[in-house]
Amino acid sequence: MSVKFVTFAKLNKRTSKSKMRALHTTILHTTIILALIHTATIAAPARVAINPPKESLQQDGDILKVYTISNREDSLLLRQKCTDFTPDELSSAEFAHFAEMMIKTVTHPSQDGVGIAGPQVGLSKRVVAVQRFDKEGQPFIVYPNISIVAYRGDLVPGPEGCLSVPECRGEVLRYRDIDIEYTSPQTLERVRENVKGFTAVIFQHEVDHLEGILYTDRAVWWARPEAWYIGGGVTAAPGKPNAAENLRAGASASEQAIATWPAADYLYFISTEVASSTDGNGNKSLRAALTPQERVYIDAEMKYAEKNLCGENFRFISPYYHQYTFEAFSGRTKEDTLKFLAVKEEVTKEAIEAFRYYMKHLNNGRQFVLAGFSQGAQLSIEIVKAMREEELSKMAAAYIIGYRLTAEDLSHPNIKAAEDETSRGVCISFNSALSEKGIWEMTSGGAATCINPLNWHRDTTAAVLEYNGLKGKVRVDTKNNVLIVEIDKSPFHKWMEEHPLFGKAGMDKECLHHWDLLFYTESLKKNAAKRAYVK
Ligand SMILES: [Zn+2]
Repeated sequence: MSVKFVTFAKLNKRTSKSKMRALHTTILHTTIILALIHTATIAAPARVAINPPKESLQQDGDILKVYTISNREDSLLLRQKCTDFTPDELSSAEFAHFAEMMIKTVTHPSQDGVGIAGPQVGLSKRVVAVQRFDKEGQPFIVYPNISIVAYRGDLVPGPEGCLSVPECRGEVLRYRDIDIEYTSPQTLERVRENVKGFTAVIFQHEVDHLEGILYTDRAVWWARPEAWYIGGGVTAAPGKPNAAENLRAGASASEQAIATWPAADYLYFISTEVASSTDGNGNKSLRAALTPQERVYIDAEMKYAEKNLCGENFRFISPYYHQYTFEAFSGRTKEDTLKFLAVKEEVTKEAIEAFRYYMKHLNNGRQFVLAGFSQGAQLSIEIVKAMREEELSKMAAAYIIGYRLTAEDLSHPNIKAAEDETSRGVCISFNSALSEKGIWEMTSGGAATCINPLNWHRDTTAAVLEYNGLKGKVRVDTKNNVLIVEIDKSPFHKWMEEHPLFGKAGMDKECLHHWDLLFYTESLKKNAAKRAYVK
């Protein structure tokens, strides 16, 4: 474990004075170990080389080289399973020297960890060195042939870092009460010991190393870097140096506001990008496994939304959530529907967890725009409902793109339907169709509100739509609360004919669900900045 761990878990309690004491007792303890080792060496029959040979142990100054995942070959060694020492090996001078070097390495100022395992210094043997925060003087002790033989109580989350995973930390669930078993290098007998609290966490982290497991494998999903797409935009955004200087002469009120307000985030939940998925065992799964191929589709939508909805006015953030697949909701039987509803509930729970993680670790007190398309829009509604008052107060608006708000949704105190172009804290919901026939039960059936994202009217006032050389008109159908698009229908009918899968899922060829994300981007982009930055 790394210094960051100590920083987060211990710094409050540990003054620099007590840190000095800890360091001092460490040195003291090393001396004691050496004394014991010296006796053991004399008693040992003959010098026995530790197998595998010492070539993997590399000196780095006067300590051992620490293997990290940044290097491919190091990585492979870190993933190997370790073997026990033989009694001869444990009695050898090599082991004594190795144990001494392990402690020297983990306590070295360049490392400053609270624990280290054999593979981290290049030895695939079951051995760890752990700082015993639960013992007087907090000594480092080396434990060969160690296993954890009992776990008690609940799994509790806590922050972790690792000397082998530089510049990273994550939240991991661990037990706080365990039993360890190891071989005493002095008596060569098995010793069982109960360990509690933070020290128990260190043992679990270090013993994982002996199985080739890194804490990042166990880190809660949202705490992992691969769980988030964080965009690189924000070039002219507020908070950026020279944002005000970049303003052109005669800038609008909203441009001026953008330059002077603190930056806000654009938190985006993607739509159903995964048609069908299988889990790690090759079994059909109704939820995305986030395989590299699935991530290609997901990334494409994230990048599209970053460019076309978020633009440069916000910091773009999007979670890789384990979405339900297209297959999950396109089933036809009652049993299929029940399965889907169960999966939908799990996905909703995960999306709310993503939002909570974002607020706690990524938001940094900024205001934000929430947006989602289709499945992502459905999840966004549930996220708004789950928001606490202070979270809701930071939300400039929620864009529920291609998904309905029902009367039931609107009865929730957190859900306020947008009625104009500028109000904050509101939900903007719309679904497009060529005619009433294009209402898709899945996304737009039962809508209780709708706003025209081109002119921000809720009545039948038409707005001009221009899209890819096509020209049309968009108005709200106030009876069904959908957007009716008057446009040359042929290209859209043709597209639906070419994609019969959607027809099978109940979508009529008059449905413009896909174009909800395409038709209105310019207007939505401007509107988000207006709601976020203009008081
Ligand atoms: Zn580690």
